[in-house]
Amino acid sequence: MTLLLDGKKISLEIQSEIKTEIQALITSGKKNPHLAAVLVGNDGASTTYVQSKIRLCNAVGMLSTFIHLPETISEKELLKVVNELNDDNDINGFIIQLPLPKHINETNIIEAIDPNKDADGFHPINLGRLQLGLPAFVSATPAGIVTLLERYHVETSGKHCVIIGRSNIVGTPLSILLSRNTNPGNCTVTICHSRSKNLKEICLQADILIAAIGKPEFVTADMVKEGAVVIDVGISRVDADNEKGYLIKGDVKYNEVAPKCSAISPVPGGVGLMTVISLLMNTMKAYKNQNSKINQ
Ligand code: NAD
Repeated sequence: MTLLLDGKKISLEIQSEIKTEIQALITSGKKNPHLAAVLVGNDGASTTYVQSKIRLCNAVGMLSTFIHLPETISEKELLKVVNELNDDNDINGFIIQLPLPKHINETNIIEAIDPNKDADGFHPINLGRLQLGLPAFVSATPAGIVTLLERYHVETSGKHCVIIGRSNIVGTPLSILLSRNTNPGNCTVTICHSRSKNLKEICLQADILIAAIGKPEFVTADMVKEGAVVIDVGISRVDADNEKGYLIKGDVKYNEVAPKCSAISPVPGGVGLMTVISLLMNTMKAYKNQNSKINQ
């Protein structure tokens, strides 16, 4: 029997925990935690992601501010918005939805974010602190994956975890989290990427296989060991003859891979929902850090 790693169920559990925490804050006369989300342009997928983040804030009683900027905004103007959010004492955490238009250098924008308000955990200081095992804001997707493994009591210690994809927002921070001397953690981690040779042979050695590639249904049953745990991070829109004109597909060919697994996360309903809830968890952490400094 394959265990479904149900991101929706765990996200709802954590939503309820955050809601209770926020209600207690309000009852004791404290301010609501507050997340701001900046969207540049009108990309369909990015708009959907930002909307779902704002919706979840509302669901748990967190304040949210949505800042929608035109595609044509200059890097200088966007940096000004970032600095305003850094200086705004009412905002505990904020995100700049990626990708940004080509004329804006994403690294410059990420580096301008106050690391203490970096709800997405993309700032180099947070990535560096994570590498050193220091308290840090962890990138929301890897944090969500680790929470999913933790809540389902998936054993990670001593397991061989193969991660396909080495991006700075998913594969790389996830490799750090899962190789640390923590629980979940203590995995032997292999990172694969577009230049990896013998990918199939490496994947077949995985006790835990994590696909973060962005290629729909890339991982097929012949790449998965019997009894492996499979986490699908991919989100791709593929054309479909339905009302929306597209379907969301993961990086894993779910129907043929799932029967071989001991546990698997679906797309949709898996890592995507865990990412959004991790963003809210990071905002709660920023709120607490900022308030404990004020009270010192
Ligand atoms: P990216 O494009 O930055 O990185 C993709 C990685 O895949 C690269 O490291 C590349 O080397 C590797 N890769 C590409 N082709 C390969 C191949 N043939 N064999 C092996 N490796 C290959 O992507 P990203 O930002 O890490 O996102 C990856 C996927 O995860 C995308 O579908 C994205 O939409 C999705 N994503 C989902 C969430 C979520 O919340 N579920 C969050 C972030 C990203």
